[in-house]
Amino acid sequence: MNAGEREAVTVLGATGSVGLNTLDLIARQPDRFRVEAVTANRNALKLAELARSHGARFAAIADPAAYRELKSALAGTGIQAAAGPAALIEAAQRPAARVMAAIVGAAGLAPALAAVERGGMVLLANKECLVCAGQYFMEAAAKANARILPVDSEHSAIFQALAADRLSAVEAVTLTASGGPFRDWPAERLAHARPEEAICHPNWAMGAKISIDSATLMNKGLELIEAHHLFSVPPDRLRVLVHPESIVHGLVAFTDGSVIAQMAPPDMRIPIAYSLSWPERMSAPTPRLDLADLAGLTFEAPDLARFPALRIALAALREGGGAPTVLNAANEVAVAAYLNKRISFPHIAMIVEQVLNGVPSGDMCEPSALEDALALDARAREMADTAIRASLIQAV
Ligand code: NAD
Ligand code: MG
Repeated sequence: MNAGEREAVTVLGATGSVGLNTLDLIARQPDRFRVEAVTANRNALKLAELARSHGARFAAIADPAAYRELKSALAGTGIQAAAGPAALIEAAQRPAARVMAAIVGAAGLAPALAAVERGGMVLLANKECLVCAGQYFMEAAAKANARILPVDSEHSAIFQALAADRLSAVEAVTLTASGGPFRDWPAERLAHARPEEAICHPNWAMGAKISIDSATLMNKGLELIEAHHLFSVPPDRLRVLVHPESIVHGLVAFTDGSVIAQMAPPDMRIPIAYSLSWPERMSAPTPRLDLADLAGLTFEAPDLARFPALRIALAALREGGGAPTVLNAANEVAVAAYLNKRISFPHIAMIVEQVLNGVPSGDMCEPSALEDALALDARAREMADTAIRASLIQAV
């Protein structure tokens, strides 16, 4: 980049919680960044508004039915409008120094891969990409010489704590978990937990899907799989620690007994800012940590009996192959069914486990191509749908 030239950033999933925080940070440094492309799923008006206010050159909406609305909302602006899966890929491939991959779910895999394949920096919020096809994704990144910068707060923490140390000197990598809104709920009460209660996360304001994943602790399971791929840490060196204050985000323990942890107030703009400025740091309008002001920091082991989703995800991580692909797809379907009040809270984990048990082990190979991952993903979704329809349990 020449002096005076602004860095182009593309934001996939611009209308979401991570996407909006990213655009907010970018807008605060107009001399440093400009927006190349933005994408969204269905909300054409919101996407058009973001594209206009941030001066994007290209706006892509996933749902082809929303194309006309987007096109007319952008009429006369000179911003190019496009729709459908190919448009998301085009957005990801346009020349940009950094691409923020913040689509939720496996739907973000193909666009994130397209961003990876052009090399450059990919700011990865979309953890489901790595759970669905982690090995393939990281191999594609290595082949294209792409730099994956973690956006998930725990992974940003581990990325910083690892610094230049060798993996062979790492004894354990620990991700912290807030424990979610139901951390101290007894099992009987969890059976009746309503989506509106599950969405109220005590420390973070996030999209609906990740909020439910945080309530079941599936999010931490997905994050262990994410960490395994991002940092090449073997499953037996990965740990989870419940830490309700969400101040310490991740810890790396080394072979000499030293532990390096990263701390920050729970605000996603902090890891997002690091991914936008790495290898430098930028100033951000985020709260500052005042340890004297805190009542204390507490840590406890996760309760795998009340939160079976974490146990199931841990088993999928250890099993490897296509198990995480199946886990992720079944979870996406089960979470959507829970949000639509078709199943109860405990059924999310039950459906995921049922689907994992239903796929013959011979069919759970490690996806070695995008098509393999998507085929296994589609099969698991169908099985989850069937399992949900078969479960006659009425929702709360
Ligand atoms: P969100 O639901 O707020 O936003 C999701 C974005 O993806 C929206 O722009 C939406 O339009 C788009 N989208 C949804 N479905 C799509 C589809 N089928 N095709 C194309 N686009 C689609 O989600 P979020 O909370 O911003 O999370 C985004 C990703 O970042 C998730 O993978 C999540 O796990 C991860 N993440 C989020 C947070 C957070 O604080 N929100 C923290 C860590 C990691
Ligand atoms: Mg996280």
